[in-house]
Amino acid sequence: MTIQACRRTPPARRVCRAFAVVLLISTIHWAALAQNKAAPQTQIVLLGTGTPLPDPERSGPCTAIVVNGTPYLVDVGTGVVRRAAAARNKGIKALEPTNLKIAFITHLHSDHTLGLADVMLTPWIMGRHEPLEVYGPAGTPAMADHLVKAYETDIKARTEGLEHSNTTGFRTNVHEIKPGTIYKDANVKVTAFPVSHGQLEAFGYRFETPDRTIVISGDTTPSPALLENCRGCDVLIHEVYTAASFDLVSPEWQEYRRTYHTSSKELADLATKAKPGLLILYHRANPGCDQARTDECRQAGSEEQLLKEMREAYKGKVVAGHDLDVY
Ligand SMILES: [Zn+2]
Ligand SMILES: [Zn+2]
Repeated sequence: MTIQACRRTPPARRVCRAFAVVLLISTIHWAALAQNKAAPQTQIVLLGTGTPLPDPERSGPCTAIVVNGTPYLVDVGTGVVRRAAAARNKGIKALEPTNLKIAFITHLHSDHTLGLADVMLTPWIMGRHEPLEVYGPAGTPAMADHLVKAYETDIKARTEGLEHSNTTGFRTNVHEIKPGTIYKDANVKVTAFPVSHGQLEAFGYRFETPDRTIVISGDTTPSPALLENCRGCDVLIHEVYTAASFDLVSPEWQEYRRTYHTSSKELADLATKAKPGLLILYHRANPGCDQARTDECRQAGSEEQLLKEMREAYKGKVVAGHDLDVY
């Protein structure tokens, strides 16, 4: 219909007006869709899914939440900066090592913190000027101070020698945390909640970003606080061990597992209540079997066994996380 035809009679004018309204609504709709497409997308990059076991395929625990080009690390296990560089090489530009500026530590077990010196020093040597912001339990400030002291020869050589490294980027600003909202910026709100991990002070973290809510367990037995923080969350990243391997270890190791970690059955029960959109299994621990090193024990703690046990007991979407997986 032409503009002249639209003007000719009242019914034609009504049809044209209706047509114009439909056109306007659809234009607004598509503009909204286009804007939505450009909206920030949160990526979860599994930098390390391992445990203390020196498994070449699984670095020490470290998860990167990437929002609008900013990476937020949870835990800093062995190999963290090299895994970040590997993720960068796979196309996650935000994980350029000099861009690692903030880390949240769940607890001070060595498998979760062996990479702290790495993430303090390596990005600095590569040119980072900003001190590393670190959030963690009591004891974290002392750990960071001791690491600066431990590396004083290196720091002195690099700042006073021909490397001409800057005098700020190796430093840390450490924030000792308590449960509650511990961090907020334009990308994320981070809530720490207490979890139960033997005698250690330990936290889980809930990340709220513009498009996702992500909960990370750290190391813990089944935690009521985690359940409350995850109800209806988009992604739950949780530690776990297999029931089959539990049956093979000594009563002492069984007692240890009950006091520090979560079995497949316990996690299935918890996730059934929490209903995450996706459950990612990480930190597949096998204490007792790791020390026994028998084939039977290894098999009983394998990823295949874990997925079998989880799928028998849990009907939601569940995957086993691998280093450098992106969700
Ligand atoms: Zn651990
Ligand atoms: Zn631990």
